[in-house]
Amino acid sequence: MKDRYDVIIVGAGPAGSIVAKTVAYAGLDVLLIEKRQEIGDPVRCGEGVGKFHLRQHIEPDPRWICADVKGSRIFSPDGTKIEMAEEISGGEVGYVLERKLFDRALVNDAASAGADIMVKTRATGLIIEDDFVCGVKLMHLGEEYTIRSKIVIGADGIESKVGRWAGIDTSIKPSDIETCVQFLVAGIEIDQNYCDFYLGTEIAPAGYIWIFPKGKNQANVGIGMLGSKSGKGKKRAVTLLTDFINKHMPDGKIIEMVVGGVPVSGTIECTIANGLMLVGDAARQSDPITGGGIINAMDAGKIAGKVAIESIAAGDVSTNMLQEYETRWRKTIGREIDGSLIVKETFVKFTDDELNSLAYSLKDVNFSSMSLFNLLYALYKANKKLLWDLRILFKDIIVNDIDFAYKSK
Ligand SMILES: Cc1cc2nc3c(=O)[nH]c(=O)nc-3n(C[C@H](O)[C@H](O)[C@H](O)COP(=O)(O)OP(=O)(O)OC[C@H]3O[C@@H](n4cnc5c(N)ncnc54)[C@H](O)[C@@H]3O)c2cc1C
Repeated sequence: MKDRYDVIIVGAGPAGSIVAKTVAYAGLDVLLIEKRQEIGDPVRCGEGVGKFHLRQHIEPDPRWICADVKGSRIFSPDGTKIEMAEEISGGEVGYVLERKLFDRALVNDAASAGADIMVKTRATGLIIEDDFVCGVKLMHLGEEYTIRSKIVIGADGIESKVGRWAGIDTSIKPSDIETCVQFLVAGIEIDQNYCDFYLGTEIAPAGYIWIFPKGKNQANVGIGMLGSKSGKGKKRAVTLLTDFINKHMPDGKIIEMVVGGVPVSGTIECTIANGLMLVGDAARQSDPITGGGIINAMDAGKIAGKVAIESIAAGDVSTNMLQEYETRWRKTIGREIDGSLIVKETFVKFTDDELNSLAYSLKDVNFSSMSLFNLLYALYKANKKLLWDLRILFKDIIVNDIDFAYKSK
């Protein structure tokens, strides 16, 4: 083990691996540490991603693709269906991944680029001198070590401590965390071409249930609902999900269970300190509507990697220089998150009747483009009174020509 690196990255999820690959390709000395003994396991993910965005980071490999979906279907509380399928226009939509293998493929890319990787290695603190982060304290196989670096990247997921250690406020109110439970259900007849979403206060209050096909008569069936909707006296997420499975797939056999949280609070104020950047879920960069965070984590990882290279080359890792990371991710990922937050806050207030009437207004619309923006815009045009709060969003998006395309779930 070396005692000094250019960059140390804490957490080998999608965010950390992309930073490691980007920085190692530039010839810098990189260490990627992961507290778990196996990369990617256990999985806490529905595993849905958009194809186009994924390809910006890694060439798709059939070994980690379980399903190649052609579209999405959204079901309102009374069962009214909205369908979006690019099949019709010959386009392409998304993959359902095998994340255990996908995360390993990303780490393998980082290792091939020259990054050192250490599993079963937990960051326990930061070395901070003269207000600059300049290394990591870590625990590896029962031994404590300190390793110095020019830049530390916190890619340690939703439970991130790295930001807090550096004095960054990454706290999220429980009401801004989406509580998720997911079962891998086997032995079911499932259309492998579609990802399905079910809405309704009885189904998933302030959230939804998803069914993502995983090939071979299997699917990830999960529920995500706002923290404020679970708790004492309310139906638990796991009960709602079990009720749904009993009703819709009574022969299904649950062969895996996942429990986790997704930050849906929108952007936090600061993701940098002197010598430090936060990426992915650690920087609260997941989408507030879908809870999807894989693509945003990778996009942010690439930006952070590039800024790390530039800052080290300039010999300046202060917040003045790292501000470039803030600026770049907020212009792209941040804009989308802000838009999604407005949509989320509008939709969580709707009653079942309102959701039904929204779905009904688009019942006969044929969406040949798999774009969440197109769907929302069509909804807005047909229901201006109900969706008046979204007007700012469309004005902004049209003026700035931002691609608000469906990126993940
Ligand atoms: C139930 C559920 C379903 C989801 N479904 C989807 C989906 O379908 N599509 C989608 O895009 N997103 C989905 N998400 C969100 C997605 O999983 C995350 O946004 C994504 O994994 C974020 O990547 P990351 O690299 O930032 O963090 P993570 O993937 O969480 O990686 C962080 C890594 O850091 C490690 N770590 C933490 N602390 C330390 C430490 N002190 N020292 C060393 N290592 C440490 C962890 O072990 C972990 O491996 C879902 C989330 C949940 C909970």
